[in-house]
Amino acid sequence: MQLPALDMPVFQPGWVWLAGAGPGDPGLLTLHAVNALNQADVVVYDALVGDAILGCARGTAILEYAGKRGGKPSPKQRDISLRLVDLARQGKRVLRLKGGDPFVFGRGAEEALSLRDAGIPFRIIPGISAGIGGLAYAGIPLTHRDTNSCVTFLTGHNASGEVPESLDWAAMVRASPVLVIYMAMKHLGLLVSKLMHAGLSGDRPAALVQHATLPEMRVLTSSLDRIVADAEAAKMAPPALLVVGEVVDLHATFGNSDLQARLAPPCQAAS
Ligand code: SAH
Repeated sequence: MQLPALDMPVFQPGWVWLAGAGPGDPGLLTLHAVNALNQADVVVYDALVGDAILGCARGTAILEYAGKRGGKPSPKQRDISLRLVDLARQGKRVLRLKGGDPFVFGRGAEEALSLRDAGIPFRIIPGISAGIGGLAYAGIPLTHRDTNSCVTFLTGHNASGEVPESLDWAAMVRASPVLVIYMAMKHLGLLVSKLMHAGLSGDRPAALVQHATLPEMRVLTSSLDRIVADAEAAKMAPPALLVVGEVVDLHATFGNSDLQARLAPPCQAAS
């Protein structure tokens, strides 16, 4: 893909570039991510990286899947890290491509540490995280001066797949008027009951955003005490984000398709 005439870095053989691909819409790839796709010999990608984005890799690139497939357990993190080291030692230009931002609940830090330990040179290319860009496409602003000056991002499950226990849930809900919860679906009921137990009232506006930024995006708005039943009725499924807070109400204004088109205008060809 042609890039603007900028001084973009050259991908050296034997390097790993750990890049974020954004939440799904290829228009949200950064120029650095496109520059990486233009040069990589191997692209090691996760489940959240779709075909439209992989289609931007250069024709000769080998695309290697490193996610969960068909109900099989996902490859162990250690195996993925070893694979990156192995490919780099073969002298390949290795692009490790992850959904959203590699350092936001994306295990990018673990992989970068393994590369450092193995003495493999690497570069980090940030991406637009789903909890930011994805929610903008859903018409949910993360902040509004009338409602919140603070946002908290958390994960619905930790490394062992459980709802994080070490969190001080009561302190968090007291401190943060807006919560954005990644990996929200697996333990949705438990997450909601933890939030209400911690002091959030059931009538807090809540939303689930599935497949954000993609043509199949779905936004379900509800309240905290109804969202589990509503999600079941609407058959909401991963990948999805749970948002809790007054900013959800703005979806009624920003979420309509006309404004949506203006929030995310199609790319204009340079004249
Ligand atoms: N590094 C990624 C997050 C990986 S964790 C990022 O910065 O976005 C995976 C979780 O991210 C999913 O379970 C879901 O909660 C969220 N997610 C990623 N892409 C999404 C999308 N397009 N729509 C909704 N949620 C998404």
